[in-house]
Order: sequence, then C-alpha cells, then structure tokens
Amino acid sequence: MADATRNLTEEERSKIAEFINEKATLPGDPCLVCRSLDTRIGHNILLVPVRAPGGEYNFGGGQPVVPVVCHNCGFVRYFHAERLGLVPSTIPPEEE
Ligand SMILES: [Zn+2]
Repeated sequence: MADATRNLTEEERSKIAEFINEKATLPGDPCLVCRSLDTRIGHNILLVPVRAPGGEYNFGGGQPVVPVVCHNCGFVRYFHAERLGLVPSTIPPEEE
C-alpha cells in the first residue's frame, strides 16, 4: 500500500463529490457540526493508523482515506478510499 498516499487528480475529486452527493441524505451535504455547505475534498489520499489486535499502532500503514474538510468550523470527515474506488479492495470475496 506504499502508493496509497498519492495526490488526487481533479477528475478523481469531481467523482468523489458526485459519490458523496449521491449518498448524502440532506441537500448539499451540509457539515455535520455547523450545517455549512462550504466543505472541500482534500487533495490527497491519507493513511489513518489502525490499532493491531496486539494493541500496537502501525504508523507506517493504515487505512486509506480521503478527507473532506468544513471551511467554516474545521470539522473533518474521512471517506474510505476503497469505497470510493481509488485503491484496490483488500476485502476478501465472501465464501460461497
Ligand atoms: Zn462545519
């Protein structure tokens, strides 16, 4: 997952905006804290460290996410990059 923290293209950011607007339950997808409509999609895929079963954090890896920032209050939401189709899925196919 070394290339997971790459920059996003403008086309990818537009597709992310379409995805979020399709999933949003409120018109314009307002901020969850202040209800501002001035939210912006980040320019990079980030890795959020996750805690391993043994209790240690792996700061060299993590889950790939795209931040969406409210420019009024600063609240940050993360959307998983796999769900956005930006990185290959690591979820194994369900057994039949
Ligand atoms: Zn806000």
